[in-house]
Amino acid sequence: MSDRTRETRDQYTFTDPSKLYAGYDPKRQHQPEPGLDQKLDPKPDLGEDTYRGSGRLQGRKALVTGADSGIGAATVIAYAREGADVVMSYLPEEEPDAQRVAAIAQDAGVQVVTVPGDLRDPAYCRDLVERAVEALGGLDLVVNNGGKQVYVEEIADLSDEQFDDTFKTNVYAMFWITKAAVPHLPPGSTIINTTSIQAYEPSPILVDYASTKATINAFTKALAQQLAPKGIRVNAVAPGPVWTVLQVTDGQPPEKLDEFGENTPLGRMGQPAELAPAFVFLASAESSYVAGETLGVTGGKPTP
Ligand code: NAD
Ligand code: MG
Repeated sequence: MSDRTRETRDQYTFTDPSKLYAGYDPKRQHQPEPGLDQKLDPKPDLGEDTYRGSGRLQGRKALVTGADSGIGAATVIAYAREGADVVMSYLPEEEPDAQRVAAIAQDAGVQVVTVPGDLRDPAYCRDLVERAVEALGGLDLVVNNGGKQVYVEEIADLSDEQFDDTFKTNVYAMFWITKAAVPHLPPGSTIINTTSIQAYEPSPILVDYASTKATINAFTKALAQQLAPKGIRVNAVAPGPVWTVLQVTDGQPPEKLDEFGENTPLGRMGQPAELAPAFVFLASAESSYVAGETLGVTGGKPTP
C-alpha cells in the first residue's frame, strides 16, 4: 500500500463508507493553476493500489480529458484495468502527473497515448479527437472531465477573462470535442460529462463555475435524447467534494480545506478512486438503459 491508500479498500470490499479514509486530514496548502497531484499532501487515492478490473471495457477505445490528475486520472486507471485503450488529454504543465498515470495505466497491458494541449483552443479539441481516432483505430468512449474552478468573492472582481476561460474549459471544450467525436462513434458508444453538486447547490463564490456545471447538465440531457436513436448514450457524473488539486489551486479559499466535505451526510470528502466506478458503469454496457442521467457521487448530498 502506498500512502495514497490510507486503509485497505477496493470497490468490492464490504466497508463502512463513513469510516473510509479516517484520519485523512489535508492541511491548508496552495498551488498555482493547474497544480500537480504529486505535490498534494496527503496524496489523493486514485485507485493505484486498489482498483480491480473485470473486463467490463474490454477492447473499448476511450478519450479522457483532465486525465493527468484527480477524477480523470482515477478514471484512466480504472478504464485501463477494465481493458480499454485510452488517450489522455491534459495541459503541458501537467506532464509529470500525466506520465505517472500513463505508466500505471500501461501496466494493465493496454495502449495509452498522451496528447497534451489547451482545451480553450477549438483547434486543439478537434485535433485531439482526430489523433485519438488515429492512434486507437477508432473511438467509442468520450469522457469530458477537464475543468476550471477559481473562486471569486465579488462579481465586481470576476473578470471577463476568467468568465470566458471557465466557460471555454468546462463548456465549449465539451461541445467542440463531442461535435468532432460523434461522426466517429459507432452505436454502443458512450459519452460521459463531468458536472458537479454545484449545478444544484451553487456557492456564492463560484458564480461562473456553478453556471457551467448547470449548463453541462442541460447539454447532457438534450444531447442524450438526440443521440439515443443512433445508439449512443450520453450521461453525466456529478461529484460532491473530492480531494483533488482543483481544491488547492484557488478552487476554494484555503481555510475551507479545514472542513472540506464535512457537511456531507457521510461526513467526509470523497477520493477520486470513489468516482471512477461511476465512470466505468456509465461507460459499459451494464448501463445500456441509462441515458440523459446525472449520477450523483456526492457523499449523500441530495440532488434533484
Ligand atoms: P483536477 O485538477 O485534478 O482535474 C482537472 C483537470 O482539468 C486538470 O488536471 C487539467 O488537466 C484539466 N484542465 C483544466 N484546464 C485546462 C485547459 N485549459 N486545457 C486542458 N486541460 C485543462 O481536478 P478534479 O477535481 O479531478 O476535476 C475533474 C472534474 O471534476 C472537473 O470537471 C471538475 O469541475 C469536476 N468536479 C470536481 C469536484 C471536486 O470536488 N474535486 C467536484 C465536482 C466536480
Ligand atoms: Mg491536473
